[in-house]
Parts: sequence; structure tokens; C-alpha cells
Amino acid sequence: MKYTRPRGTHDVTPAEIDRWRAVESAFESTFDRFGYRGIRTPVFEATDLFVRSVGEQTDIVSKEMYTFTDRGGRSLTLRPENTASVIRAYLENGMHRWGGLQRLWYVGPMFRYDRPQAGRYRQFHQVGAEVLGSSSAAVDVEVIQIVVESLAALGFEGLDVRLNSVGSEASRAEYRTVLLDAIRQRAEEISPEALDRYTRNPLRIFDSKEYGDRFKQSLPVISDYLVESDAAHYARVRDMLGAIGIAFTEDRHLVRGLDYYTGPVFEVYFGATGAQSALCGGGRYDDLVRDCGGPDTPAVGFSAGLERIVEAMPGQPADDVRGVHYYVACIGAGAEARALNAARVLRDVAPAEVDLSGRSRKTQLEAAAKKKAHVIVVVDDATPGTVEWHDLRARTERRVQEDHLDAFARDASEGDSR
Ligand code: AMP
Repeated sequence: MKYTRPRGTHDVTPAEIDRWRAVESAFESTFDRFGYRGIRTPVFEATDLFVRSVGEQTDIVSKEMYTFTDRGGRSLTLRPENTASVIRAYLENGMHRWGGLQRLWYVGPMFRYDRPQAGRYRQFHQVGAEVLGSSSAAVDVEVIQIVVESLAALGFEGLDVRLNSVGSEASRAEYRTVLLDAIRQRAEEISPEALDRYTRNPLRIFDSKEYGDRFKQSLPVISDYLVESDAAHYARVRDMLGAIGIAFTEDRHLVRGLDYYTGPVFEVYFGATGAQSALCGGGRYDDLVRDCGGPDTPAVGFSAGLERIVEAMPGQPADDVRGVHYYVACIGAGAEARALNAARVLRDVAPAEVDLSGRSRKTQLEAAAKKKAHVIVVVDDATPGTVEWHDLRARTERRVQEDHLDAFARDASEGDSR
């Protein structure tokens, strides 16, 4: 082999594509049912956008970005996540003047220079949503509901929805001092560079991979320091989740790996615990739009990892071969134009695939059976004007006038559905 894919990337082959499409369409149809509109942004942006929004001290910005200088000398970065880009697009396209709530969803590749392992890639895909313009706790609940309903539609049961609140700036000011004191007391266990990082942003210690749970659990937690309005908002989210029947557990150490969150945050787990198994994460970020230069705009969002969902999806079919309805066998090179024409007519009724391999009749019929075709239509050079119609389910065979193929196919398919 002359070339291999870059480390940490993967191919989705036709053997897996149906699973991918199932996951994407489960989210897409949930978004449609909830009245969300799609948005697509470039895969690269000005580096500064991510540094400012995701946060300079986060692992994502400090260690994981794919940053390059283009030929015009600009510093660009392959997006490590999509929230910052969506906010940038929201402002740049004047969507903050469109009025009311903006409920937006996206899907696409993200890039992080992470250590590749199961469920962790350097190019991975996220589907997610951002809701801009409401401070209501009901919106926090709505985005969690979207995740839970999409995953339920894919057969996930017993999801573990973990919830916490990281609080607004008002809550965090005092907490930061308390947390930093606690960290300094354990300074001998922390490297000087890390200590410098936590001095600037102490909350980051909770998502660092260097310290174990015991260490983290000995530190003070933000939920004990929430100001009245943050605590009340968080309580409303919990009450409403209960009222619509979404089970959750509180995780007082959940902080998420991005700096912009300012209220309730959540992650959704399935099966084995451990950092790799979060299918999804999100939360409220009320300051980001303003920090990006826009008007004060409260917001909530989430993003889910498609690779992890595809890999964890229950009841995966062992073999993803999907049956094609019509298989048009083409016997003799002189029959090719007729075969293309027959397939064109048939496709008005159902999907049709033409065998253009030039192989023997027997081999083509075997290939059709392997593809789980419902009907084989044989177009043979030796019999101009008519085709053979093999209905593999009814086990019948007959000859059909080529001019009447469309009417015949339509009648047969109506017969099937009766
Ligand atoms: P985050 O933006 O880090 O909160 O990630 C949101 C979701 O994206 C996670 O819950 C994962 O499902 C997925 N994800 C994040 N990083 C990776 C990665 N390196 N490889 C695969 N999936 C990832």
C-alpha cells in the first residue's frame, strides 16, 4: 500500500454507511419536529475566534488545534467545535436582527489533535444545535429533550443524563478564589506549568486528564457557590426535566472542556462509564454572543459525537447490505442502451441498479440474489423488444413488452402494496 489515512482519521465504508445515515436522520427528523433550521459554516475560521471563545487555557486550544498559516499570512484553524463558528455566522449574517428565537442545528467534521484511541479521533463528526435569544430554563430542557428523543429513536435505552451548573460569572468569582486556594494547598502534586494554567483558570482542573477522581473529588464544587439567580435557574431545569419524564443524575464535578458555559451543563453517557463514553455534551452560555462582539444574547447548545453514537448503537445489523428493488441484468454489449432505458423507467417506481459488468447471465442473476433484489429485469441482446421479469419474492417469471415496462412495473408494485 502506497498511502494510508492520517493517524486519528477513519473512513466510513459502504458496510457502515447505513448506520451513519440512520444516526444522522434520527437527529435531523427530531430537529424538524422541533422547528430547528439548519446552518452550515466553513470548516476553518480565524484562529482567534476559537482562542477567545473556547478559552486559551483549555486543552482544546492549548494542545489540540490544527492551526496553519495560509498563503496570505493569516492564521487559520480547522474548527475543533462548531459553537463559536455558529455564533460568528449568526452575527455576521445579522441573524440577531431576525427577531425571536433562533433555533439552529448543524452536522459536520471537527478536528482535534487528540490522542487517538477507541471513540477518540482527530477528525470526528458532530451533530448539534444552538438556540439563541432565550434565557428560559425551558430551552435548556428542550435541547436535552432533543438529544434524548433522537437517541431513543435509535434504540438507546437507559441513557445516563448527567447534569450540573457551572454558574454565571457572578457565581464563579468567589468560587474561583476558593478553588484556587484548595489547588495551591496541593501544589506539590501539580507540575509548575499546570499550576500556572490553573492559576489563570482553576475550573480547568476538573477536565484535566492528569489527575484522578480522588484528587478532583477532594476539591470544592461550584454548585455550593451558585448565586441565587443561578441556583433558581438550575432548579427550574431539574424540575422541568422531571415534569416531562427525563431521568438525570447530578454530577457536581461536571464542568465541560470549554470555557464559555455560564449555567446548567450536561453530558449524556451510555453503557460503560469513562471519559470516552460521553455521547454528547452541552449547556448554557449566556455571555458568548456578547464576547464575540454582538448584543447580549442568552444561548444554549449541545453537540453529540457521531462516531461514538454509531459505535454504541444497540441492535446493529451484522451486515448492512440493503436490498435494491430492481436489478437490471444486461446480457450482451448491444443491450446496454436498452438496459439504461429500462432502469430509467423503473426508477420512477423504485430504486434500480443496472449490471454493466458484461458478465455471464448466471453470474448476473447470482449477483442480484446477493443484493437481495426484489425483481430482476433481464435485458438480452438476443430478444429485442421484450425483457424478462423475474419476481424473486413471488417466484414468478414472465416476459414483458419493453414499451409497457413502466405500466407493468407500476401495476406490479401496486399489487405488492395491496
Ligand atoms: P465536546 O465538544 O468536547 O463537549 O464534545 C462533544 C461530543 O463530541 C463528545 O461527547 C463526544 O461524543 C464527541 N467528541 C469530542 N471529541 C471527540 C474526539 N476526539 N473523537 C470523537 N468524538 C469526540
